[in-house]
Amino acid sequence: MPSEVQTCPKCGAMITPNLVRCRQCKTYLHGTKLEGALLDGLLPDAFKASPGTALMVVTLFLYYVLMVMFAGPSSALAMSAYALHQLGATSSIAIIQGEYWRFATGMLGHGGIIHLVFNLYALTIVGPLIEELYDRKKMLVIFIVGGVLSMVVSHVWNADIWGSIGHMTIGSSGGVCALIGACLIGARRRGSGGQEVAQVMLRWSAYMVLFGLAVSGIDNAAHVGGWVVGAGLAAVMPLGLNATVAVNRIYSLVIFGLLGGLVASVVMMLVALDGYGAQLAHDGGARRILFFTIDPGTPRNRSSQVLAVQKCQGLYLEAISEAEKVAPATEACERARRVAPRYRRPYETLADLYELQGQPDKAKPFVRVLARWPTVRR
Ligand SMILES: [Zn+2]
Repeated sequence: MPSEVQTCPKCGAMITPNLVRCRQCKTYLHGTKLEGALLDGLLPDAFKASPGTALMVVTLFLYYVLMVMFAGPSSALAMSAYALHQLGATSSIAIIQGEYWRFATGMLGHGGIIHLVFNLYALTIVGPLIEELYDRKKMLVIFIVGGVLSMVVSHVWNADIWGSIGHMTIGSSGGVCALIGACLIGARRRGSGGQEVAQVMLRWSAYMVLFGLAVSGIDNAAHVGGWVVGAGLAAVMPLGLNATVAVNRIYSLVIFGLLGGLVASVVMMLVALDGYGAQLAHDGGARRILFFTIDPGTPRNRSSQVLAVQKCQGLYLEAISEAEKVAPATEACERARRVAPRYRRPYETLADLYELQGQPDKAKPFVRVLARWPTVRR
């Protein structure tokens, strides 16, 4: 493998792309001093070779722990659609209402333990390869930007182009596919030294497409979208360690910005969760692991979802003639649209109720959803 010979910007000693601190003067070579202190101080030795990958593995794992905390221990194996919707899944119907933070939380969450383990496993294989080809910071940019944009592509493809506004997706596989695309491009750019890796990545990309076409429920738009974003970034980013410490520090600021954006999105998810939680007494949604149903959910007509919609409808009819019923009806319908986001009725009643209260601004998101509701279905 051709190693770019470089020198430490401070003392002029020879450095290699993999070297985190100058051997001679101990200057941190991969970014800001803060980053150096954090990574050197907190990261276990086993992770120091690929700190970007380690950071993302830990983040994704902790986000799943957070999801289980809210959805309940029985959800550790697999989450219901309601739990996923409440815990940040990229839901087109919610995005149309303005919940854009879901593009970020959608790439942090996972639908079940197998989904999580599969993505973390792929991440621990491809992540370190990118960190070696491009360094850890470019790996983080590719993974986070690719993961978030893959969610945007999935929403645009499914809801905007095909009109399926009930589309919902979750998982970091878009980011993983971004790394696969980037790894293929990076290995090719490396020339003869990268041939073997390029072969493997080409095969993985082919598996991704074949697997996606053969198995239903896989978000091909997110996978292909992530792959293209990753490959594009890898084509324009210079290979190897950044030439100067200054460039490295600029990358650090970009990373801190991206991580800050992820944190802000999680906070917005938690704010939206407040008062509703992620568990239902009688969740009508099934929970599945691969092809096995581990919990079929409460029968539809007795489910919390249908009960909530019925309560909303009942109070709404009363509110039309009795002014004092407007507030409780609004509350019941707000609950219904969260508990049962794919039912049309709560959006209609809420649009009406807010107009009735002279709050057209609050009615707008629901009018927007209704305008895009497919007319063929139901
Ligand atoms: Zn030095």
